[in-house]
Formats: sequence, C-alpha cells, structure tokens
Amino acid sequence: MTKYAYHEGAIRPISEAHISVTCTTFHYGIGCFGGLRAFWSDRDKQLYLFRPSDHYKRLLNSAKFLMSDIGKTNAELVDLTVELLRKEEWKENVYIRPIIYKDDGVFRVQLHDSTDKLAIFSHPVGAYIKGDGALRVGFSTWRRVDDNAIPARGKISGTYINSALAKTEAVLNGFQEALVLNQDGHVSEASAANLFVVRDGVVITPPITDNVLEGITRKTIIEFAREDMGLEVVERSIDRSELYLVDEAFFCGTGVGVAAIGSIDHRLIGDGSTGPIAAKMLAHYQNVVTGGVPKYKSWLTPVY
Ligand code: PMP
Repeated sequence: MTKYAYHEGAIRPISEAHISVTCTTFHYGIGCFGGLRAFWSDRDKQLYLFRPSDHYKRLLNSAKFLMSDIGKTNAELVDLTVELLRKEEWKENVYIRPIIYKDDGVFRVQLHDSTDKLAIFSHPVGAYIKGDGALRVGFSTWRRVDDNAIPARGKISGTYINSALAKTEAVLNGFQEALVLNQDGHVSEASAANLFVVRDGVVITPPITDNVLEGITRKTIIEFAREDMGLEVVERSIDRSELYLVDEAFFCGTGVGVAAIGSIDHRLIGDGSTGPIAAKMLAHYQNVVTGGVPKYKSWLTPVY
C-alpha cells in the first residue's frame, strides 16, 4: 500500500495529498504526467529506477507544451523520486506517477499566467494487460489524436481520453488491446504502448511524426535491436494491411514491458504465439532492468 506522496512541496502521507474540486486540470485535462518504473532485483537486493532522467526529460518537454514551470531541474526530480521510493521502503516492482497540473480554478482555460504544481506517488504493479500468451489485438474505430490538435509526442493528460476510447472499445469487443490509426490512416500505436513489427528480419516501428508518443521503452528497444542483436531497425509509416502480413509484432512501454501480439483483427501474426525476436527482446529487457547487464547499468538509478 502506498504510504506517501510528494504534494504541495513536500513528501507527506498520501492520505493528506488532496486537490480541490476547483483544480483546473481536474476540469480540462490541462496537465502532463510521467510513468516510470522501478524494478526489484532479488539477486542484488536492490530497487532500480529505470532511465529516470529520460522520463523526466519527456515530462519537462510535455510541461513546455503547456507553458508549465514547476521550477525543478531534471536532477532534482530524480532525487525527489529516489527519496520518495526510499521512504516507502518498496522491495517489489513499482510504478511511479509524477504529474504536473494547473491549479488556478475552474474558469482558466489557458496555459499562460498559471499556477503549476507537481505531485508524485508510487504503487506496486503486476501485469498491465490481463491474460496469458500473445495478445489478441484489434484496430480501433477511433483515430489517434493529431499533433495539430494536442501534442501527440508528449504525455498530456487530456490526450488519454483518446486512449481510453480506443482501449474500452477494444476490450468490450473481445480484444485485449487496441491499435490506433492516425489521421493519415497509418498505424500509430496502442492505447498506451508503442508498436514494433518484424518483417523479413527487419525491425520496423512507426516514426514519432506519425503521432506517436516519444516512448522511453521504444528508444530502448531500438538500441537493443541495433546494438545487441545486430538487427536493422527502420522507422517508417506502416499501413494497416501490412500489419496483417508481418512475421512478428509486439508492444512496448513502461506499463506493458515487452508484450507479443498473437493476432490483429482476427488474423494470426506468425503462428499466433510469441515470435523469436519478441521473446529475445523481452528476456533482454527483463535482464537489463533488473541490473543483469553491466553495459546498461548507467540506465539504472539504485534506490537503496
Ligand atoms: N504510447 C502511449 C500513448 C503511452 O501512454 C505510453 C506509456 N507511457 C507509451 C506509448 C510507452 O511509452 P514509455 O515506453 O515511455 O512508457
């Protein structure tokens, strides 16, 4: 159980971390947030925070879109997160949620002249998507939010209405996760995860300019594929019809980790089970995040 949150300038009991019903972000979704993970290593008896400064860089970039200034540097945010996790004394995998929000009352639908605040809390996590094996995925009838409407590359609170519409439609239609097309009709991503496919040995992922979130795990997977597996990685637009023909497909993200896709719109991907590159990627990712790969130790911030 979560005991603490950073709220209104201090780490305090989470039972005291409240916002008012007049909070601007509560009404309009004018906020931005991050989603980090810390992984418990039984071998090292250590909790490793994964790529925290990359996550906080994206958060501060998202804040820039919203003209939000919380007066904290990336390094201060990392230190604060470590302090919070230490105080919680977690010895299991946890998800960390920093959020930057505006708190000027209901009648302020604007970005400028705002009171910007930061809150952070953490909680234990299990599997992000329910069910075993490779995922059953279906295309949503909703389109991914366009960068000309809301910055798609950032993690903006209001954007998640788009994600929730797609996710709920998919689950109520019997799928486990949604894929979403962008306004051009190209494949963008899942409701809260980036997409990779493998075709004829080449790893392909949609470019950020196809209205994709600048995923930290996406960046990680690209590096693993190129540097550790010697695979060619191409960032290019993907058509819906091409997805039906790929040899492998998998999602990646802080919440989902690396998750293989077994079928899309009822068409099997490969033989419908986890493909060899997805399986290798998942094993490597799990090894890296728990401190098993010396060359990637610099991505990990030990909490204890
Ligand atoms: N796309 C969306 C829309 C997301 O919400 C997430 C989760 N943050 C991702 C992709 C994956 O990003 P990351 O690897 O940084 O968690």
